Amino acid sequence: MKNLAAFRKKLGRWYDSQGRALPWRSKPTLYRTVVSEFMCQQTRIDTAIPYFLSWIKLFPNFKILAKAKEEQVLKLWEGLGYYQRARNLHRLAREITELKEIPTSAADWEKLPGVGRYTAAAITSIIFETPAACVDGNVVRVLSRVNNIEKEFKNNSEAVGFFRESADRLLDRRKPGRHNQAMMELGATVCLRSGPKCSRCPVSSFCLAHRAGTQDSIPRFRSRQISTARIDRLWVRLDDSLLLHQIAPNGRRLANIYELPIVDDILANGTEKTLIKRAKRSISNQRITESIYRCRPGKGKQADIRQNSNLKWVSIDGLDKITLSGPHRRWIKEILTEDV
Ligand code: SF4
Repeated sequence: MKNLAAFRKKLGRWYDSQGRALPWRSKPTLYRTVVSEFMCQQTRIDTAIPYFLSWIKLFPNFKILAKAKEEQVLKLWEGLGYYQRARNLHRLAREITELKEIPTSAADWEKLPGVGRYTAAAITSIIFETPAACVDGNVVRVLSRVNNIEKEFKNNSEAVGFFRESADRLLDRRKPGRHNQAMMELGATVCLRSGPKCSRCPVSSFCLAHRAGTQDSIPRFRSRQISTARIDRLWVRLDDSLLLHQIAPNGRRLANIYELPIVDDILANGTEKTLIKRAKRSISNQRITESIYRCRPGKGKQADIRQNSNLKWVSIDGLDKITLSGPHRRWIKEILTEDV
């Protein structure tokens, strides 16, 4: 692209006047920026906002977060998914509070828990004006269109790698924080995946895809293979308690979080059970059908349940106190409403 300075200027001015007033942008401290960057990884901004506000109320700074118990941290994160982010944020707070000096380089931030290249560039450019360019899916979309790159990418990480150099060249080194936020804002609100709003775009006069009319077909990605899976779960209620499975502390994604037990946790195939709910959901490129069956285990089975340390009876009144994975909280609520 020619005339980088003019592009930066137009983009920056547009962001100053049109950028959304998000809660973490109004008082951009290091802590608020770190929390927002962790929350917004793999989560839509609209979804993250109420979580951010509750989080800041309960854990207003690194020190208080560092001292919090993991159960409290996970409980507040409940429903946002990808719980490893909450654990990493908690660990990061502990490490930061131990440091004599807060690092300002993106490379040093990448050594902290849960901070990848993108997050390190975002945090350091916004707070310290470190000249590190952010490249995520939004930036990939803008750069591929502005430069009319019709190459087909294997996946997002290949595209991110491809555009690093061009993002770095384009970065406004005088105001890297504003520039990075403006690029991401443009991708999130104007240069949309489908139906980019070119007539409202501040950089349309620089955009080669807009000129060629190719903006709707790029960036191009190889189509992903979709796989399917079936999971059968159980609804076991005795009086006012519900049987749940607490995922082991070394569980990769959802350690210590509660879910409805899967059939294999308790029953051999063939035990009598009645289907009460079927739900479909997608995780990455997997389409999962989950079926929930009501069953009433006999006396012998109840002894087996007691011996399984991951199976816990939780009182219905106590469900709000534990951390359930998001979809499970929703299903349980729905079934309980119908169960009355
Ligand atoms: S002109 Fe259209 S395609 Fe080009 S950057 Fe702007 S919104 Fe995206």
